[in-house]
Amino acid sequence: MTAQVCVLGPSGKMGRAVIEAASGRGDLEIAAAVDSPGARILGAQVHPGVVATADLAAGLDTSDVYVDFTTPSATRAVARVAALARRAAVIGTTGLGADDEAAIAALAKVAPVVVAANFSLGVNMMLGFVREAARALGPEWDAEVSEIHHRAKRDSPSGTALAIARAIAAGHGADYDKVKRHARDGDVGARPRGEIGVTAIRGGDVIGEHTAFFFGAAERLEITHRATSRSIFAVGALRAAVWVVGKPPGRYDMLDVLGFAKS
Ligand code: NAD
Repeated sequence: MTAQVCVLGPSGKMGRAVIEAASGRGDLEIAAAVDSPGARILGAQVHPGVVATADLAAGLDTSDVYVDFTTPSATRAVARVAALARRAAVIGTTGLGADDEAAIAALAKVAPVVVAANFSLGVNMMLGFVREAARALGPEWDAEVSEIHHRAKRDSPSGTALAIARAIAAGHGADYDKVKRHARDGDVGARPRGEIGVTAIRGGDVIGEHTAFFFGAAERLEITHRATSRSIFAVGALRAAVWVVGKPPGRYDMLDVLGFAKS
C-alpha cells in the first residue's frame, strides 16, 4: 500500500524537508499540503500535483496520515479536527502544553498517533544509552544536559533535551519533575545530589546538538548527538508515517516505530 500523506506547514523548515524527503519513495505519496490561512505559500505548487491549501478538512480527507511540524496551537487545533476524521498522525511539534497534549490524547483514542520530540535514529539510540548509563552509574554521577539550536527556535529547553533528561531520571528511578533544574541564575546553592540540570544555548543556524554529561570523581562521560541536516528528522517522520497507517488507535513513539524493546 502507498501511504497518502498530508504535510502541514509546507512553508516551514520541517514541512519543506518532509516534502523533499518524500520524493522518489515508492511507499508513500504527498497527497496534500496544508498551511495556515494567510500563509504566503497558499496556491503555490509544493510538489508535483500538490498545491498548498488552507483547507484542512479536504487535506485530511485525501490522506491516510498527516505529518505535523508546526506550532503547539496549530497542533492542538489540527488534532481536534483529525479526531473527527479518525486520521492517523505523526506529530513532531515541540513545546507542547497540557491543552495540546490533551488534544493529542483525544486523537490517540480514535486513531494511531506517533509523537516524538526528535525523529532521528541517532537521538533515539541516545535515549536508550543515557538511560542505561544513568541506571549503571546512579545519581552519584551528576547528570546534566546541554543543547544548542538555531536562533529562530522558540521553545526552550528543546523537546529532545527534555526527553534526554527524562531518560536519565528514568535510569535513576526518579520523578523528573522533582529533580529537574532548567538553567541556573544567582545564588542557587550547591548542586543537590540527583538534580538533573538542563541548559539551552541559542545562535546561528545550528540544527540541533545535545550532550548528556555524567560527572564522576575524576572522570566524566559525555554522550553527544549532532544533527547536520533536517533531512534526518524528515526521513524518520516519513518512516513513522508509513508505519502508523493501519495500526490500532493509541499513542506511539519512535522506539515503537524502530522496533526497539522498551523496559
Ligand atoms: P517553522 O517556523 O519553519 O515552520 C512552522 C510551519 O507551521 C510554518 O510553515 C507555518 O506556516 C506552519 N503553520 C502554523 N500554523 C499552521 C496551521 N494552523 N496549519 C498548518 N500549518 C501551520 O518551524 P520548523 O523549524 O519547521 O519547526 C516546526 C516545529 O517542529 C517546532 O516545534 C520544532 O521544534 C519542531 N521540530 C521537531 C523535530 C522532531 O524531530 N520532532 C525536528 C525539527 C523541528
